[in-house]
Amino acid sequence: MGEPIKVTEIFGEDVFNDTVMQERLPKKVYKDLKKMIEEGKELDLATADVIAHEMKEWAIEKGATHYTHWFQPLTGVTAEKHDSFISAPLPSGKVLMSFSGKELIKGEPDASSFPSGGLRATFEARGYTAWDCTSPAFVRHDAAGATLCIPTAFCSYTGEALDQKTPLLRSMEAVNEQSLRLIRLFGNTTSGKVTPSVGPEQEYFLVDAKKFQERKDLIYTGRTLFGAMPPKGQELDDHYFGIIRQRIAGFMKDVNEELWKVGVSAKTQHNEAAPAQHELAPIYAEANVAVDHNHLVMLTLKKVAARHGMKCLLHEKPFAGVNGSGKHNNWSLITDDGKNLLDPGKTPHENIQFLLVLTCILKAVDTHADLLRESAADPGNDHRLGSNEAPPAIISVFLGEQLEDVLEQLVSTGSATHSIKSGTLDTGVRTLPDLAKDATDRNRTSPFAFTGNKFEFRMVGSRDSVAGPNVVLNTIVAEAFSEACDVLEAADDFDLALHDLIKEYATCHQRIVFNGNGYSDEWVEEAKRRGLPNLSSMVEAIPALTTDKAVAMFEKFKVFTRAELESRAEIKFESYSKAINIEARTMIDMAGKQFVPAVVKYTKSLADTVIAVREAGADAVVQFDMLKEVTELLSEMKEALERLKTVENQAITMKEGEEQARFYHFEVIPAMEALRAPVDKLEMIVDKEAWPMPSYGDLIFEV
Ligand code: ADP
Ligand code: MG
Repeated sequence: MGEPIKVTEIFGEDVFNDTVMQERLPKKVYKDLKKMIEEGKELDLATADVIAHEMKEWAIEKGATHYTHWFQPLTGVTAEKHDSFISAPLPSGKVLMSFSGKELIKGEPDASSFPSGGLRATFEARGYTAWDCTSPAFVRHDAAGATLCIPTAFCSYTGEALDQKTPLLRSMEAVNEQSLRLIRLFGNTTSGKVTPSVGPEQEYFLVDAKKFQERKDLIYTGRTLFGAMPPKGQELDDHYFGIIRQRIAGFMKDVNEELWKVGVSAKTQHNEAAPAQHELAPIYAEANVAVDHNHLVMLTLKKVAARHGMKCLLHEKPFAGVNGSGKHNNWSLITDDGKNLLDPGKTPHENIQFLLVLTCILKAVDTHADLLRESAADPGNDHRLGSNEAPPAIISVFLGEQLEDVLEQLVSTGSATHSIKSGTLDTGVRTLPDLAKDATDRNRTSPFAFTGNKFEFRMVGSRDSVAGPNVVLNTIVAEAFSEACDVLEAADDFDLALHDLIKEYATCHQRIVFNGNGYSDEWVEEAKRRGLPNLSSMVEAIPALTTDKAVAMFEKFKVFTRAELESRAEIKFESYSKAINIEARTMIDMAGKQFVPAVVKYTKSLADTVIAVREAGADAVVQFDMLKEVTELLSEMKEALERLKTVENQAITMKEGEEQARFYHFEVIPAMEALRAPVDKLEMIVDKEAWPMPSYGDLIFEV
């Protein structure tokens, strides 16, 4: 079983955290750095030199030979360029290990190969990484040895954001500023800062590495493009929260240990709904740190899986027919003295500040539902959203019985006088304790659910960075707070104005609240009647980024310029097209080189059998019928393959952009589905020995 893990000892041991800084930095330098972290004050180069030196010394003690500026370009994955600490050799032939303040603060990777969405057509090609001191540096151990990783933002020469972190930091500033305005109105003079807190729950699949290697679709696209459902799926619900198998448990143990060392507070782990699907949730942290940590979680899951002879699939829909994976983004606003603006207290109807916050959020989500939806769009998520498992593509808010009742009172009478009590849970068993019951039940079908003292945005894809969704959340809420404060700060009678405002928001935006079954067809109809947007695919969602409404808001709060938004939309259209192009080409490759030859061979053996059986004087009717059926499906496959080749050829010759992306979505994807259908049917008929790759059953039931 190995040595027991001493969690409190190893937690954060590879992080240049507050304790280390306090221990190692001169008092004045430590104080300056804290000021920079907390108040965003500038750091002079001399101070940076001292910090860099200590950071290097500390990292070398941990075995580090290299450092890297770790950043999040718009490729969806993190990027890094490693430099060793060695300086130019001395006359003696020896080297010193050095790391300057300048090297800590600023890096200059060649930006030309990262997506910029046209920003670089008009601006210089240079890109800079800049130290984000609000997310601690850490040492990572892997096959490359130990590396000091410095979280950084990535911008162009003229300051345009080329990454996920820059807008996130900007949006955190925006929501901080407007939240402070709001709480000051309610007499709070003590809190100095309001930070969005985020807890992303990460779902993933594990499959055996050897079987993975036998599937080109998994290798090239991260999901299966063919595959018939095994006799058993997830219908028995026996995997969800089931006993964790030993092989997986060993993996989870190693993942936790690695994450704890780099300061990620991995907290919860369990089996998810689908066979071979699991979840990991950390304890929530400041949005910026939470986003970085989530990247570390994804990297660590992959790395440790490889060590255990497995592959971790982060794709949103690795297998058709069983649940896909998402990332629940839990979000709240917490002051530096520990007050959660989303905490309703025991009697929400009396908590007037909470009611304003709540109705502002309803307004924000209703006004910018399209943007929130867009923030969860990626090619993989198109297979989940609205497909009877993950939330639908329509944004609505689940409030639960208690808050919905309060809202109802606000709308009908203008004020709320009572809150439904939470009560106790009677189990009917005398030996069990009476449990205090939550005032609100859960609703797994809602994309945006209030869960006690936070909102849980459930649309986000498992592979995506949570930066995008939090940029949108922070900014739309900053806008709603700002508009409310504009009214309230100017009011002669604060109480009256507040009362009217809450009633107005509640009434105007009640349509976004829905507590029913989000998977039902009735909801789709009802949402349409309410005028809520239903953007069912990524290509239909992307234009939300560049509407006048979106541009005005993002520019007002200095989160994105119009040029940045346009470039991001362009990048998304392009990356969508590229993703589908790779999938289509992989299908063409697999069908042409693996399925067609395998089935042709199988028909030959069937034909031989028919002849042999007849020669032996027996009736070969079953064999003959099988041969006919297989041959028919084979020609259907061949036809679909040719059709896919044709549309695929058409697609690649189109100009990059929205039109091409739409073509991929509306023309290429249906052609891919048409090819998959006969192949999946054939898999059910053809001899397993003759099938050229592991089946779904092999992949998800035999990990
Ligand atoms: P589940 O929803 O799976 O039952 P929890 O609600 O306990 O699990 O927590 C899910 C995630 O939400 C965890 O990462 C947790 O740390 C985070 N979380 C809890 N409270 C808050 C909060 N106030 N703000 C943001 N995230 C939170
Ligand atoms: Mg949850």
